[in-house]
Amino acid sequence: MPHKIKKQFGQNFLTDKLIKDRIIRECHLTEEDTILEIGPGQGAITELIAPRVKKLIAVETDKDLIAPLKEKLEGSNVELIHQDILTFDLNTLPDHVKIISNLPYNIATPIIENVILHKHKFTDFYMTVQLEYGKRLTAQPNSKSYGSLSCFIDYHTQTEILFRISNKAFTPQPKVQSCFCRMHLLPKPKTAANDEKLLFQIIKSAFAGRRKTIINSMGTLIDKDKLKDVLTNIGIDAKTRAENLSLDDYIAITNALA
Ligand code: SAM
Repeated sequence: MPHKIKKQFGQNFLTDKLIKDRIIRECHLTEEDTILEIGPGQGAITELIAPRVKKLIAVETDKDLIAPLKEKLEGSNVELIHQDILTFDLNTLPDHVKIISNLPYNIATPIIENVILHKHKFTDFYMTVQLEYGKRLTAQPNSKSYGSLSCFIDYHTQTEILFRISNKAFTPQPKVQSCFCRMHLLPKPKTAANDEKLLFQIIKSAFAGRRKTIINSMGTLIDKDKLKDVLTNIGIDAKTRAENLSLDDYIAITNALA
């Protein structure tokens, strides 16, 4: 019986052979690799990854996909787990795992946040995401896509868009364009903040008032006089807006306050 597509699981299956092959090439797989695939779906890239690596652990939430996947992957090195990735304990994985996923777009952020929380387990996270979202992940200051997510990703990872993918590469076709990204997880940030919690509180408050000057937007979190002194000391104009400050600027503000 043909699979009934479930929109709530973000099911857009990759059907373009050239794109599948390009994804495999970009992941630089070796026989030493252990891979976590999030959402194998109908096995579009699973069956291409498996013969190239030591082990593949595939976590799929849709029960209707499990039996056909089991049949397709029988006798292979794939361990298929029927579970929601957001409840799966990433600490049970071995170390140095690479993740590959055509992500369900609606839960991309909680998945990425959880991976970053467990970044000691992983080296790289290769992912297909919505193009607009990929731009937000990789955005630099002074651009429309730049926001608190870009800063969070820049702090913990080195992320780049490797190539764009047309919506025609999927069945059913999503309305939006996609892209394939590489997120390299940094064991330590390039520049560390003395207080990471405060850093992200500051960044969130700054971008919450995106159109305001930072003295007004951050002023909801920190005493304005204290903030003015700190900004003057580190040479940042209090009338700057959130999108004009780099991650290093936010770290400097945090470290001066912490
Ligand atoms: N990898 C396949 C491909 O490229 O054709 C499928 C990609 S499709 C965009 C997303 C897949 O993730 C679907 O198979 C969907 O059922 C699965 N999925 C959605 N939410 C999930 C979750 N919370 N945990 C695990 N898998 C999930």
